[in-house]
Amino acid sequence: MERFRGYLERLTLNGRSKERKLPAMPSLPDDRPQPLAAISPLPTATANSKFFKSLPSEIRRRILIEAFGERILHLDLRLEHPLKKYSKKDRELVKPRPERHANAHLFHPSLRDTTKAQEWTWWSCVCHSRFPNWNFNQDPPGVKIFGEEPAKDGCRDPFMLPRCLCVLYPGHAPAKCFIGVQGWLLVCRQAYIEGVDVLYSTNRFHIAYAELAICLPRLLPMQHLSAITAAELSWNLTLPPSEYFRWDADDKDGLQSCDRLALLARLPQILPNLRYLYLSLQDVLRMRQPMLAIGGHEMYEEIEEVLRKVDAMIVRMSQLQECRVALPLSLYSTRKLVEKGRDIDWRRGTDLDPETLWRNIPTSTSDAPTDLTTVNQSINGYWIVHGVEDMYPPPLPEAV
Ligand SMILES: [Zn+2]
Ligand SMILES: [Zn+2]
Repeated sequence: MERFRGYLERLTLNGRSKERKLPAMPSLPDDRPQPLAAISPLPTATANSKFFKSLPSEIRRRILIEAFGERILHLDLRLEHPLKKYSKKDRELVKPRPERHANAHLFHPSLRDTTKAQEWTWWSCVCHSRFPNWNFNQDPPGVKIFGEEPAKDGCRDPFMLPRCLCVLYPGHAPAKCFIGVQGWLLVCRQAYIEGVDVLYSTNRFHIAYAELAICLPRLLPMQHLSAITAAELSWNLTLPPSEYFRWDADDKDGLQSCDRLALLARLPQILPNLRYLYLSLQDVLRMRQPMLAIGGHEMYEEIEEVLRKVDAMIVRMSQLQECRVALPLSLYSTRKLVEKGRDIDWRRGTDLDPETLWRNIPTSTSDAPTDLTTVNQSINGYWIVHGVEDMYPPPLPEAV
């Protein structure tokens, strides 16, 4: 009877949790005090500091960059059930999950209490899926190991075997997996002004999903968004927002009525000073019925429609110097077959050419804004690279 009652209670709680009103996404207050960086620091605050008094500003900046700049930083905010709470006795019986980069193992569903309502949960860290000597400012597109492509990033994945390379980085885990900048920013106003500029202007931000990128102005002050110069974005085109994201009841950002491709048009305003953009398009034609033949002209034309929207966005990014658009393998393969008459080197090894295609932005497209004052194009094309793996390699030809 006891067990039956417990079952009924769990069932009711689960049923209720679906009906529970989800909390609104956290948001900056409408009335914000003056930005900290706009208030002059007091000279007395740093009068006794050798760091500020003995070192010139360019050396201080270099030190700060070494400490927490020129990295790839993950930015993620999603709805999660709270962590299960175990009694001391239970804890001894539960087999611990292997620790992952930046505590990502804590997102495994077995550790989350689904009887409790979801809550918005921040997760940010330094990316450890690439080698420590990896220099994101110098890598030409398509020449690196495919596993290092941002589309394949597995830093947050709690299921896969650890793909991260934390062990190659100095320091102790998990502390070394996090940015660790907060302590410095709280030292004094001068430290904040210099540190926050390094944080936003020298790092590359890997933003977890399209809706989060669109909601950034509600989460970060505009002066910080304007300082961001490099971003990696995952953009799922066909799937509706999943369990980890729900728009607010009043849908302030108009996400419910807007398809994911149309949302791209908002990016130039949200991140106005991007110089580098990596855009990983996902599930592009997944819902297309009937499914088009890979490598055929029909599929090529459908991809072309998607890329025209990307073109229209890029021509409005006035500071952009380099852009890479990652297409799922089925689409990348189609582009390459039609444009070059040959397929991807699926087995990797025989083709030494970089796996990339150049796309010139057509001078006029139907999707381009007609108001020429909004166009301040700085680049005339971008690299198309292969992105998420959405198909298995085709079978090898039979030996004769
Ligand atoms: Zn990563
Ligand atoms: Zn790590």
